[in-house]
Amino acid sequence: TELSKIRNFSIIAHIDHGKSTLADRLIQRTGGLSEREMSAQVLDNMDIEKERGITIKAQTVRLEWKGHVLNLMDTPGHVDFAYEVSRSLAACEGALLVVDAAQGVEAQTLANVYQSIEHDHEIVPVINKIDLPAAEPEKVRKEIEDVIGLDASGAVLASAKSGIGIEEILDAIVERIPAPRGDATAPLKAMLVDSWYDPYLGVVILVRVIDGTLKKGQQVTFMQAGTQHLVDRVGCFRPKIEQLADLGPGEIGFITAQIKDVAQARVGDTLTDAKRPAAEALPGFKEVQPVVFCGLFPVDANDFEKLRESISKLRLNDASFSFEMETSAALGFGFRCGFLGLLHLEIIQERLTREYDLDLITTAPSVVYEIELTHDGGMIELHNPADMPDPNKIAMISEPWIEATIYVPDEYLGSILKLCQDRRGIQKNLTYVGGRAQVTYELPLNEVVFDFYDRLKSISRGYASFDYHQIGYREGDLVKMSILVNNEPVDALSMIVHRGTAETRGRGMCERLKDLIPRHMFKIPIQAAIGGKVIARETIAALRKDVTAKCYGGDATRKRKLLEKQKEGKKRMREYGSVSIPQEAFIAALRMG
Ligand code: GDP
Ligand code: MG
Repeated sequence: TELSKIRNFSIIAHIDHGKSTLADRLIQRTGGLSEREMSAQVLDNMDIEKERGITIKAQTVRLEWKGHVLNLMDTPGHVDFAYEVSRSLAACEGALLVVDAAQGVEAQTLANVYQSIEHDHEIVPVINKIDLPAAEPEKVRKEIEDVIGLDASGAVLASAKSGIGIEEILDAIVERIPAPRGDATAPLKAMLVDSWYDPYLGVVILVRVIDGTLKKGQQVTFMQAGTQHLVDRVGCFRPKIEQLADLGPGEIGFITAQIKDVAQARVGDTLTDAKRPAAEALPGFKEVQPVVFCGLFPVDANDFEKLRESISKLRLNDASFSFEMETSAALGFGFRCGFLGLLHLEIIQERLTREYDLDLITTAPSVVYEIELTHDGGMIELHNPADMPDPNKIAMISEPWIEATIYVPDEYLGSILKLCQDRRGIQKNLTYVGGRAQVTYELPLNEVVFDFYDRLKSISRGYASFDYHQIGYREGDLVKMSILVNNEPVDALSMIVHRGTAETRGRGMCERLKDLIPRHMFKIPIQAAIGGKVIARETIAALRKDVTAKCYGGDATRKRKLLEKQKEGKKRMREYGSVSIPQEAFIAALRMG
């Protein structure tokens, strides 16, 4: 396709403002799919995405409108996938900014639109859901101007649901978003925007060609990975797969090249012609690293192999997720897994539970700490609290910090500030727009991985929105808190906490465990300790009578039956020293951090 006839754009929006619905409408209006095929949302094709209304894997659809080729790039909708989002944006020249006419601008609207502006995008504001009785398009138009600083006089008023404003949006894309630039005669340079595993095609790679031409049968070099592959398919999605002979400058499409592992096709890599390579790779390549780690263990030890298989399968499609085997005295065999963030963790955990039908125990999520050892022992990265070195071998511990932007209606601001303060937050900025406050905090990521998001949502009745990015490591007064049940440390429950919050955390954990662990024939002390020092303590009182004492000595069968029943109940317990801890106790204790 001629460069001047191409438009590459993405849709940016806060969750639920109508991005997927609008994308489907654009596909439908340009004739990509029949009415019947449109029945299910096309771009969100995984169950979890649909339920949570987020997009996990970016996909691209080629649309035709009035003699132009429009490539719609769907970007992942969550901060955990920030790098993937940045590459999708780098592959476009413009964006539709979708804002809900009843909700107005939200935290993710801002985060995404600023990124889009950084990529020099032409932004077309779309005020969506104007069919709603609560819609206030003029107020939202003003908000876009005041809060974001964009000219919204040309904003398209639309209802993706009722099909209002769709043609106007398509026209605006053609008229307002610039055509891509590129040199067809230069050596091939294409950006790897996304990759995923398809059971029929193998690894599918989404690319944006910058210069040159990408052809079927071409030998290409992946410049960052340093590997070569033979391109065996070139094509695009309409959204159905269509094979093409080649992709020229400015075009977006996919290739396959008999690649087995997505880890070999890293987002941000540059593809070039092996015979006539480009002098240098495209800027901005970044290797994404997991930032949150936790242990995943099967509730039923017999499910371990099944868990290994399921995890390996998920990993086929997600190179940013890592795992290695882990053993725990309390939980048996499992895996230590790394994720890009908490939502990423939840998605994987949920897919394992739902798609692979596994019952799992997740240990407390932990961030990656940097520990400087004494006596020139060097620096180590700590992924698992259980591996914490002896305190006298530690010269300094650093933890990752984030900058969080929270957008919240005025009336909930006080409780939000308190929450951030309780989590060691440092307030950086506070501004008001309309009835809402925008507050910026620096927070240790460690304090955010424990239920921060849930607390934020419940405090604000769901009205607060939240966005964050990492800002580097800072020294922290951090200690390992162990939990001892009947004087034995339970490794799965140990965690790294700030010294100042250790006591509150420890007390909370002991209180919960007291309710979660059933009574035994003897007294069970539950303690939280730092090193040898106990900082919190609870005691589970002993059972007064044996259950069988109810049966008057003589009735042997009844007594036996009761004992058998007791035994069955024990199957789902973990024997811990002389104490049986039910799986549910671990799950509940860990869930609440
Ligand atoms: P996304 O999270 O931005 O992809 O949002 P979705 O497209 O999944 O839409 C979120 C919800 O808003 C869904 O229940 C849609 O049916 C609804 N929705 C989307 N567009 C409109 C609209 O124009 N009007 C109304 N009333 N609802 C809409
Ligand atoms: Mg969506």
